[in-house]
Parts: sequence; structure tokens; C-alpha cells
Amino acid sequence: MTVTYVEVARHRRAGEPLAPLRDRARASLGDEDLQGALRVMAGRFNVGRRIAMSDPAVSGLREKGMAIRSEGVARLRENLARLEKSLTDLGVHVHHAADGAAAVRVISDLARARGVKKVVKSKSMATEEIDLNAHLEDIGIEVVETDLGEYIVQKAHERPSHIIAPAVHKSRVQVTTLFSELAGHPLPDRREDLCAFAQERLRDDFLTADMGISGVNFACADTGTLVLVTNEGNGRMTTSLPPIHVAVMPIEKVLPRFSDLGVMVPLLVRNATGQKLSSYVSFLNGPRREGEVDGPEEMHVVILDNGRTGLLGTPFEPMLRCIRCAACLNVCPVYGTIGGHAYGGTYSGPMGAVLAPLLHGGEEFDDLPEATSLCGACSSVCPVGIPLHELLITLRQRARTSRGKRWFFGLWSRAWSRPSLYRASARLARYGRPLARLTPPGRRWAEGRTLPEPARQTFHAWWAKTRTAP
Ligand code: SF4
Repeated sequence: MTVTYVEVARHRRAGEPLAPLRDRARASLGDEDLQGALRVMAGRFNVGRRIAMSDPAVSGLREKGMAIRSEGVARLRENLARLEKSLTDLGVHVHHAADGAAAVRVISDLARARGVKKVVKSKSMATEEIDLNAHLEDIGIEVVETDLGEYIVQKAHERPSHIIAPAVHKSRVQVTTLFSELAGHPLPDRREDLCAFAQERLRDDFLTADMGISGVNFACADTGTLVLVTNEGNGRMTTSLPPIHVAVMPIEKVLPRFSDLGVMVPLLVRNATGQKLSSYVSFLNGPRREGEVDGPEEMHVVILDNGRTGLLGTPFEPMLRCIRCAACLNVCPVYGTIGGHAYGGTYSGPMGAVLAPLLHGGEEFDDLPEATSLCGACSSVCPVGIPLHELLITLRQRARTSRGKRWFFGLWSRAWSRPSLYRASARLARYGRPLARLTPPGRRWAEGRTLPEPARQTFHAWWAKTRTAP
């Protein structure tokens, strides 16, 4: 059994601790369906991204994207103030939420005041971060996820395991079984039929919902335009059919200028799915105006901080450049082996291993920076140049370390500061494998690792021999 996000949410809300990362990872390793799904996912996304980003038409796009995001974050407060003014001028109600509880309160109060019974949602990791669905359901509101992947995980009582492909951990057979149970009769094991089934059910939900809730991919400070980048029409329906639209926007989504979209949208899409452009790019410019035939009567934006301003001016500030493309998840050998649920939080992969300890605090996610090989693949693909593996090292340095570990590394550091002890330990490395298994921590460390065969001769011994050779 994988540790599902449902359990994570339950633990978090009940204040119960999560199972240790080691146990969560072990559960994922034993899940054959998950392992198969992860292999397919990594191949599909990585090949697409490589082809899309090697296109000469986009040379220099990454550098431009990095510059735009760096500027956006460096002047975050100023950009947010400009955005608020632009949104207000468009007739949008702006709310500020210092944390998840405040965001939930704003949306719940609004829903109660308007007599909302049903909410349709398009994919939004920010609302996952604040457990919005569970809170709305607690006050008697029906919440329907309308992105196909989100719909699948909602119906399976799970939560997303990937930031752009929420149900990537599920095989088609599992989805067929799930949808057949919902339908009350067996459905064909074909993508088109499964999609048609979900579409048919969702159509009625779009038409009867009282409120639509979305995330935001980008928000332009100068025009107040909110941008949604999707591959299904559900984002557009969610934001235009119900009479009230609420967008939940983490503070870092703001861009200085509308013209930045010419760089940021293709950069996001090429790195996320390998497409040149996604099927739908929606530009939302306030509620319905007089004479317009569609759009919500009321529009609200909840600007969510939830620990983000605390990153400004710290070594972790670059994390606010993240555009949630998921390229770092797709190349990460650890994510590709344990999947998203094992990370235990809303965000997974290298970006999640950095963000979760920073945003959620506490000891619960302290061990996440250990979930990395530090190979640097994440940093090398990140389209906005976030030095993920360096941030992970910094987090490791700050993490609460056990006394045993501190003692071991202190001893190691002292030994390797003396040439004679360094040489002696290099000679001992030949016996590293059997030695590692002598103690329980050593056995745990060696478990699942293939230790390389040490050379028969140390470098120093070889050098000494070479130097004295005639
Ligand atoms: S950290 Fe970089 S690669 Fe990872 S999701 Fe964010 S922008 Fe994409």
C-alpha cells in the first residue's frame, strides 16, 4: 500500500505525525502498479521536454525566463501592490491570506454568504496546499474536481502525486475499475471511453455549480490579467460558467508585465509537457461586463502567502521563481523511484523536498532533503535556474540531526583532517561493505545501495609506487 495523500491530510489536520520517510518510500517501492506508472511517466515527459527545449526557435528562452522571474521576486511586494490595483480597477475583489487557515476562512465565508451548495474546481496545487476541499466539505459544500487527473484522485479518495499529472501513479486498468464502479457497470478499457464517461458526468456539474475555484499560473501586475494554462477545457468552464469565480493565487505567481507572458507561457509549457503551446491558455480580465454573454458575475482573488514572504532575503528566495513545470520531478531519480505520495506533502520531487520543510515547518518534513541523490539533474533542467540541489544541501545542514549522526560525522571530519588517518581509512575502504553491515545504522544505510568495488590499491599507494619506479 502506498501512503496516500488522504492520510497525509488527515494526519496534518488531526495533528498526528506522518510515518517516517523511509517507511513511506519502502511502501512505494513495493507497489508494482506505481513502479510501472513511474517508468512510463519519466520517459514520456523527459523526451518531450528535451525535444521542445532543443528547438532553435527557443534558444535563450531559459535565460529570459530566469531574468523575468528573478526581477518578479526581487520586487515582489511592489509587483503585488500593482497587481492589486489593476485587479481592483477591473472589478475584482482582492483578499490577502497570511496562511492556509485565513484563505480557507475567506472562501468559506464567501460561500456561506452566497448560499453556495456546489463548487467546481480546476487543478490548483495551492488549494491542495491549504486542504480547501476538505474544509469546504466540512461545511456541507459539494466539491467537484474537473481536471481529469484530479477527478480520478478525488473519486479514489487520494490526492495528487505529481504537480501537473495528478493521477500519474494510476494505471489505465485501475482507472477503468474505478470508473466502472462509479458507473455501476463495466466500462471499456479505452482512453476515449474513460474520458467520455468523466466528461458526461462533469457537464452537469459545470451547469449546476454556484462557484468555480481555480488556481493561477501567472498574474500580470500591469493589466491584472490572470492566466490559466491547461490542456482540458475545464479551466475555462470553471472560471466562466458559475456565477462566482474565486482564484487562489500564491504570491509568487505575479509577473511584472503582460508582455512577459510571451516568454513565460512557452517556457512553462515546453518544460511541463513538451508541447509548443498547451491546448488552452485563458486570459481572465475581471467579471462579466455589461453586454458580455459569459463570465462570472463576481470574481475574487485570494492572494496566499502561507510562509512565502519568510523566504525573501534568505538563501531560499530563488525557490519563489518556481513556475511549477514539474521538469525537476520528471528527471529526479528519487521521484522516479518512490513517486509523489512518499514525499508526504502537497509538493513532491526536488522542488517539494525544498518547499515542504520551508512552508510547513516543524519536524515532519525535516527528512525530505535526504530524499535526493544530489546528482544535480533537477538544477540542470529547471527553466528558471533554481539551484535545487544546493538548496537541498543547505536544508540538510540546517536539519535537526541525531546525536549519533553528529558524532559519526564529527569523528569522520577529524579523521580526514589528518593525512595518516585519511590514508588508513582509505585502506580500510576495501572492507567497507562488510564493515557497514556490522552495525544496525550501517546495515540500514547499505540496504538497497550497490556499493562499488573498491580499487585493489589506494591512489597514494599507486602514486608512491609510480614515483619510485625506474
Ligand atoms: S523547481 Fe524549476 S523545474 Fe522544478 S517545478 Fe519549479 S520551475 Fe519547474
